[in-house]
Amino acid sequence: MDLQTDIPHSARIYDYLLGGKDNYPADRAAAANIVKDWTVLPIGMRANRRFMARMAHHLAADHGIRQFLDIGTGLPTTPNLHEVVQSVAPESRIVYVDNDPIVLVHARALLTSSREGKTGYLDADFRDPDAILGSTQLREYLDLSRPVALSLIAILHFIVDDAEVRRIIDHLMAPLAPGSILALSTTTFDNNPEVVKAGVAAYNAHGIPTVARTKEVVETFFNGLEILDPGVVPVHRWHPDEESSALADDQITIHGGIAIKR
Ligand code: SAH
Repeated sequence: MDLQTDIPHSARIYDYLLGGKDNYPADRAAAANIVKDWTVLPIGMRANRRFMARMAHHLAADHGIRQFLDIGTGLPTTPNLHEVVQSVAPESRIVYVDNDPIVLVHARALLTSSREGKTGYLDADFRDPDAILGSTQLREYLDLSRPVALSLIAILHFIVDDAEVRRIIDHLMAPLAPGSILALSTTTFDNNPEVVKAGVAAYNAHGIPTVARTKEVVETFFNGLEILDPGVVPVHRWHPDEESSALADDQITIHGGIAIKR
């Protein structure tokens, strides 16, 4: 497998800025350029990761969701989504999807399901929803006659065309049962425009197409669904815990939210 270690990859930059070890000099050099202006990015990334955990816990504990399709999973970190939801309901089933070979290499760490549940990994691209929906992993692990949570956490800013994002989300949500959930987070410049503009430009300069969006645009990704409390908000303000409550708005340059399909 060609990991293209001489080219920076988004999953490895993210891993590096979260303090992980699965990254290479090219990723670290790109990361250094990106955070030169966007110094608060690692704070936002950690807050995003905690948002993922609160969201997953909330869906399992308060919405009774037992099936998750997580696209843009990233490198394993603690806790992974399946660990959060299986701590609430061990029978939960999770299908992870990412298109980066480095994530595939480390996928074994995501396949540590509880005995009662299941976790699967699919090497596929978000932009090819038919490959995801038609995959054996999805057919084997998820029962589409029951609610599924589609989670798109910190991936949509790598798909720069808003209309394409809406089209793919519609396509993925279409076969899901009523009661299914869309959970997402994506980069915004609302809270700190100059800094995010410079940081996004640095991502693009390193060959990683990236975009930041306004809250209004992020809300259009939930078209046709009912956005649930507290709406689309900077991730540290989404059902905050003590740690996230302590963060300042201009540190958090990523919006998150969830919505339900009626
Ligand atoms: N969801 C995790 C990781 C976010 S990093 C978290 O929030 O902690 C973004 C991930 O999206 C990376 O692992 C990257 O490889 C993946 N990704 C980017 N574009 C993708 C695409 N088109 N299809 C599938 N995965 C993609």
